[in-house]
Amino acid sequence: MASTANENLAARLQTVKHVVLVLSGKGGVGKSSVSVQLALALYNAGHRVGVLDIDLCGPSIPRLLGVSGQQVRQASAGWVPVFVDEEQRLCCMSIAFLLGHQDDAVVWRGPKKNAMIRQFLDDVCWGDLDYLIIDTPPGTSDEHISVVEYLKSVQPDGAVVVTTPQQVALADVRKELNFCRKVQLPVLGVVENMSGYVCPHCAGCTNVFSSGGGEAMAREFEVPFLGQIPIDPALTRTLDPVTDTASTTQSTLAERFATSQLAPL
Ligand code: ADP
Repeated sequence: MASTANENLAARLQTVKHVVLVLSGKGGVGKSSVSVQLALALYNAGHRVGVLDIDLCGPSIPRLLGVSGQQVRQASAGWVPVFVDEEQRLCCMSIAFLLGHQDDAVVWRGPKKNAMIRQFLDDVCWGDLDYLIIDTPPGTSDEHISVVEYLKSVQPDGAVVVTTPQQVALADVRKELNFCRKVQLPVLGVVENMSGYVCPHCAGCTNVFSSGGGEAMAREFEVPFLGQIPIDPALTRTLDPVTDTASTTQSTLAERFATSQLAPL
């Protein structure tokens, strides 16, 4: 029975070339922003990209991609993801599309969350994708164990681990890297986000939370260090505008595409 279920999942994802998970030890370090920037960087490089948001209790991908409030369509083949661009090369799926109201709380225990993740993997018709980026909740919880287990038959490429330079965040990243080792999920690399603030007036960089911890951690675990992203108020304004109505969505889409500071993997 389990093997049939795994075969179904593998069949569903056989049109997806690469699967990348984005992990972080803590919330608020910019994991979802990095997921979105990674997706935009790959999109800008000409790829077809999907983003799956499995941060069920704090879904923010629709908002960051400017498509919150949209509805997911049910077709005979399964759920049709929400497309972000007219060319239909960038799409996403999130529990936020299934909630009656964006402020509704998801108060679920592990088994129900696992079932939702399984359904996302089984039922979303991604079509041909070069990359599927999976934005996970912070930490190493039920959702992480489940998604890694469910994806065994498709062998994900690995994980991008996001941290900030503070010791308190780095301590949790250590756990995240140990988790990857334990479940044999390759680590594609570590990104140090909010690494310094570049003054818009003098271009001098202030290391608000210290700097370089992510790189040292990557060295210690012998995994690649992908780079540092400074605190950039323009990034927050563009990816996470105060208002996110249908009219602002279209006007900020081009700006969103221009924000990505990450080079494609
Ligand atoms: P997480 O997914 O880790 O909880 P988010 O990606 O939702 O974190 O980011 C939290 C907040 O920080 C958002 O408002 C986001 O716009 C902002 N943010 C993330 N990275 C940066 C950055 N490099 N510069 C400025 N703001 C950032």
